[in-house]
This record gives sequence, structure tokens and C-alpha cells, in this order.
Amino acid sequence: MLRSVILAASRSSQVERLVATAPYTRDVVRRFVAGAATDDALRATRVLVDDGLAVTLDHLGEDTVTPEQATATRDEYLRLLKMLAGAGLTPAAEVSVKLSALGQMFDEQLAYDNARAICAAADAAGTTVTLDMEDHTTTDSTLEVLGRLRKDFPSTGAVLQAYLRRTESDCRELAYAGSRVRLCKGAYKEPESVAYQSTRDVDRSYVRCMNILMSGDGYPMLATHDPRMIAIGEDRARWFDRGPERFEFQMLYGIRPEEQARLAGEGYTVRTYVPYGDEWYGYLMRRLAERPANLVFFGRALISKK
Ligand SMILES: Cc1cc2nc3c(=O)[nH]c(=O)nc-3n(C[C@H](O)[C@H](O)[C@H](O)COP(=O)(O)OP(=O)(O)OC[C@H]3O[C@@H](n4cnc5c(N)ncnc54)[C@H](O)[C@@H]3O)c2cc1C
Repeated sequence: MLRSVILAASRSSQVERLVATAPYTRDVVRRFVAGAATDDALRATRVLVDDGLAVTLDHLGEDTVTPEQATATRDEYLRLLKMLAGAGLTPAAEVSVKLSALGQMFDEQLAYDNARAICAAADAAGTTVTLDMEDHTTTDSTLEVLGRLRKDFPSTGAVLQAYLRRTESDCRELAYAGSRVRLCKGAYKEPESVAYQSTRDVDRSYVRCMNILMSGDGYPMLATHDPRMIAIGEDRARWFDRGPERFEFQMLYGIRPEEQARLAGEGYTVRTYVPYGDEWYGYLMRRLAERPANLVFFGRALISKK
């Protein structure tokens, strides 16, 4: 219920204005977002890489409605990749890209062209790209674009969401050699017709999907903060004899950093997903919807008179 309210607020421009102008918002945002500028992203990446973590960088921006906005997003990724390579931060850092930010909502071919340019720049920088997954209406289109990109850039990563009923079957399709697949639970509000609704059903699906990926031939990327899923991931890694070069854990910037350090200290590959940019609102609201405990922290920002 609370999750639905927060996700509804994530689409409200009135709530966005209220949140953006609240006194402590900056501090809350800083906990989950590296900063607004490319330099902020580089600084955060340097700290994480020096701590033994791998990184994937996400330039925030979702409501792209014009080709000009899509091109600006593409150009930001091209600039970022050049800077990462120049700073010696590749291949430790890769990039995560939302096709909606590249024009998918109004022109799938444009989104493909933009994504292709980013894949080529990543390749030249010695790293790769993962295509984030958005709501279920975009799944087919995103997997179709992924298939086209993988013809020239086979290391392009996919994301599959365990809450979708279709995902076990997608995992089977994508568990082939060289296929990088991030498995997450899923962050959008989806109808019962396409998605499991209870935590228990989503968790069970996550484990089934993890079993398929970890027993398959691809490169699984287990994106979760859930201690139970992480423990099962560690168990499957032992069971299927997967060392740190054959799968990885992924977590979000600012979430369970001690656990990220613990896993890296034990020799696992751990990648931190680092968002940056001005358009942090939708991202922040999805994080709050996942963990209403963060609302206490956030509520102070809204009501503070300071
Ligand atoms: C690297 C990465 C990339 C992602 N990419 C996508 C994507 O492309 N598309 C998409 O739809 N979603 C994406 N997500 C979000 C994902 O789908 C989930 O919404 C999000 O990760 C929450 O699910 P969870 O597995 O972490 O655990 P949850 O089910 O939210 O929580 C389970 C347990 O994990 C622990 N936990 C969770 N959050 C916290 C916290 N903040 N602090 C302390 N403990 C916590 C708690 O013990 C909690 O009970 C991504 C997530 C990650 C980590």
C-alpha cells in the first residue's frame, strides 16, 4: 500500500516540486546519488574502485520526449566513457543505460542508434554497457534492441526482473556463453496479470531464476541487497564452482556499503551501481518505495524548518 503511494508520488510533478525544494533534500539525495556532474561521478567511481569494487554508472534521466534530449543523453555517456578511460577507470567501471532516456518511447530505431553509439564508445574505452530494464511494457522492445546490439557488441548486458512471470523463460533464453545478465527483483508497479505481487512469490521466482543463470553458461550478475538472496547466491557459486571471474554481486550506491565491502573482502566481484545527474527524483522515489524505513530519514527533509 505504502509502496503504491510512493510510486504514485514518483509520477507527480507537484510532489516533485515539494521534495526538490525541501531543506534537507540535498543530503538525502547525496546518500543515493553521486552528484549532478560528470566529475562527481568520476570522483565516486575512483573511491569505490580504490576500495576494490567494480562500478556501473547510470546517468539519471527517464522522461525523454524529444530526439534532442535523447541525443544529449547519448552525448553525456560518450563524454563519461572518454573520461573514465582517460582516468584509467575502465574496465573496472562500465555504464548502465535506460533505453527510455535514449528515445525508446517515441522512436525505437533512434534508441537503438543511440545505444549502439554508446556501445561503440564503451568498446573503444575497453569496457561495456548494460541495458537497464524498465516497466513491463518495454521488456520486449528492450530485449529486441539487446539482441541487435549483441551482434556487434556481444558483452552488452541484459537485465531481467524476477517479479515478472515471464522471467524464468527469459533466463533460459539468455543463459548462453558470454551472455551477461543482471538479475534483480524489479522496481516498478506492475499488474498481477504480468507480475507476482507478494514478496514471497517474488523471492521464490528470484531463486528459481538464479538457479537457471548460475547453472547455465552465461555470466550472472546478482543485483540484490537481500541477505537471503545473497546467501543463496554464495551457496550456488560454491555448488556450481563459479569463481569471481564467472559471476558478480551488484548493489546500489549508498545501500549496504558494509555488505559490499564484506563480499569484496571475501574475494567476490562486487559492482556498485552509481547514479548521477540532475534528474534524481524518480530514482530516489523508487528507492524509498523499496524500503519505507528510509522515509523516516526523508521525512525530516520535508518537515524541517531549518
Ligand atoms: C545493481 C542494481 C541494478 C538494478 N537495476 C534495475 C533495473 O534495471 N530495473 C529494475 O526494475 N530494477 C533494478 N534494480 C532494483 C531492484 O529491482 C530492486 O527494486 C531493489 O534492488 C530492491 O530489491 P532487493 O533485492 O535489494 O531487496 P528487497 O526485497 O527490497 O529487500 C529485501 C531485504 O534486503 C535488505 N535491504 C533492502 N534494501 C535495503 C536497504 N536500503 N538497507 C538495508 N537493507 C536493505 C533488507 O534486509 C530487506 O528486508 C536494480 C538493483 C540493483 C542492486
